[in-house]
Amino acid sequence: MPNNHDAIIIGGGHNGLVTAAYLARAGRRVLVLERRELVGGCAVTEELWPGYRVSTASYLTSLLQEKVIRDLDLEKYGYKVDAKDPAFFSPFPDGRYMFMWQDAAKTLQEISKFSKKDAERFPAYEEHLEKLAVVVESLLLTTPPEFPPQGFSDMAEWLKLTGRLRGLSRKELVGLVKIFTQSAADMLDDWFESEELKVTLATDGVIGANGGPKSAGTAYILMHHCMGGLAGKRGLWGFVRGGMGAVSEAIAASARSKGAEIRCNAHVRQILVRDGRATGVVLDNGEEISAPIVASNLDPIITFLKLIEERHLPGDFVQQMRRYRSEGTSCKINLALNGLPDFRVLPGTPGPQHRATMHICPSIEYVERAWDDAKYGKPSQKPLLEMTVPTTYDSSLAPQGKHIMGIFLQYAPYTLKGTTWEQEREPFFQRILGLIEEYAPNIRSIIDHAQILTPYDLEQRFHITGGNIFHGEMSLDQMFVMRPLAGWARYKTPVKGLYLCGSGAHPGGGVMGAPGHNAAREILRG
Ligand SMILES: Cc1cc2nc3c(=O)[nH]c(=O)nc-3n(C[C@H](O)[C@H](O)[C@H](O)COP(=O)(O)OP(=O)(O)OC[C@H]3O[C@@H](n4cnc5c(N)ncnc54)[C@H](O)[C@@H]3O)c2cc1C
Repeated sequence: MPNNHDAIIIGGGHNGLVTAAYLARAGRRVLVLERRELVGGCAVTEELWPGYRVSTASYLTSLLQEKVIRDLDLEKYGYKVDAKDPAFFSPFPDGRYMFMWQDAAKTLQEISKFSKKDAERFPAYEEHLEKLAVVVESLLLTTPPEFPPQGFSDMAEWLKLTGRLRGLSRKELVGLVKIFTQSAADMLDDWFESEELKVTLATDGVIGANGGPKSAGTAYILMHHCMGGLAGKRGLWGFVRGGMGAVSEAIAASARSKGAEIRCNAHVRQILVRDGRATGVVLDNGEEISAPIVASNLDPIITFLKLIEERHLPGDFVQQMRRYRSEGTSCKINLALNGLPDFRVLPGTPGPQHRATMHICPSIEYVERAWDDAKYGKPSQKPLLEMTVPTTYDSSLAPQGKHIMGIFLQYAPYTLKGTTWEQEREPFFQRILGLIEEYAPNIRSIIDHAQILTPYDLEQRFHITGGNIFHGEMSLDQMFVMRPLAGWARYKTPVKGLYLCGSGAHPGGGVMGAPGHNAAREILRG
């Protein structure tokens, strides 16, 4: 068993690559083992059809940490983003529509079409969210304190944590507690009266969630999506030039430049453990590779329940891990188009709407009903759709005159009652097209190719348990000091020398690079 590596990273998702890049910068000899033929995991660009380079899973960036971009010199390696403007376009069945723009004054004008009072309140809402986001954001690149605290030094860490709240007023502190406990709908009801504005904002609260806008905890998910930004502007999301794979490629190039070795087509079958310590891995082809440090970019369920023999883990840890919730409810559809959807409410192509995230979700109740179906094991009769056309920013992604459209939708439960995704996939797709047709009647006529990725397909393609896009639900009981499990949120695991560096660790999912960054720091601390 050759031993010329200081650390093995299992999985070349963007987080695994971030860990590798930081370790390599610190002079460690690092080997990344990726099962697929390309790196990136859920942040990839794949040529699905000749000439179409598609961000098959994730499609927008905002959360990627500025520090990671700077430290790893990602712009030098090709990372470039076009900020989305307009941010949102929501057409409504009554013939009206709403845009949200980067220009605050233009957005207020749009909101005032629906409610003058809401337009007046909107700046205060944004300021409030910003204040809270700053506090939470400051935790993204920190290692959660020990929980429950064991001794004096743990208590000191908790005190330091509460110190971060010092700048908040009483009202903001109440807001902070509310945001962790409230539903997105309740939070938005506190601020606004217009259904159209509320639903446009509420979509961020249910993306990737196992819950509807009225489920407790969705207010936090809403804020999670406002935590990033682009070029110093909070809440902006954008399209990466070259698709999301360009993020991963840039990180990989940065890691390689410092000596990291990245092997694709290397499927890890087992993590080797001797006397409670990780000693290496075994690949599918039987090859054994040893290293004193192993970091897993895989989700916690695959890491602990599939790659490690149960006898190496404490019984209660295994029990709790079996209860870790990781079933997804999101579906991604990728389309190759020979034109653009022509909206009834705003006819003509191309238009600013095609540069926005285009929503199909007319009301909070509509989204809640969509969740009701999923709760009982059915794909939503009328799902919430988020449609994006990256080719309106980067025409190199498709042949001349053609477009790519991504549809991210909720809800498509991983576990169906009385049926299977094999049976449901096509009828579900047809229903979605029917739904889009109500708003953009030309949709069927402009589709050249389609790929439908139900949670089952996401699991198969990306190896994410239950097709959960975040490596496990981002509910309060699986966040921060509880991610993935209480007592194990500090990237270390019950197996010495084995670390978790993917989205199943704090601060969770999204193309953020934060878990990878934090895990590298803990590995280097030893
Ligand atoms: C459909 C979809 C849409 C999304 N949209 C967005 C978005 O627009 N913006 C955003 O910020 N986030 C989005 N997300 C979430 C985000 O993409 C993920 O949370 C994030 O990319 C996960 O990164 P990771 O590095 O932690 O894990 P992964 O990307 O899951 O990486 C894990 C890696 O491990 C590899 N692997 C698995 N098993 C093995 C094995 N046994 N041996 C070797 N390698 C293995 C996998 O192939 C993969 O490369 C989306 C996710 C999905 C699925």
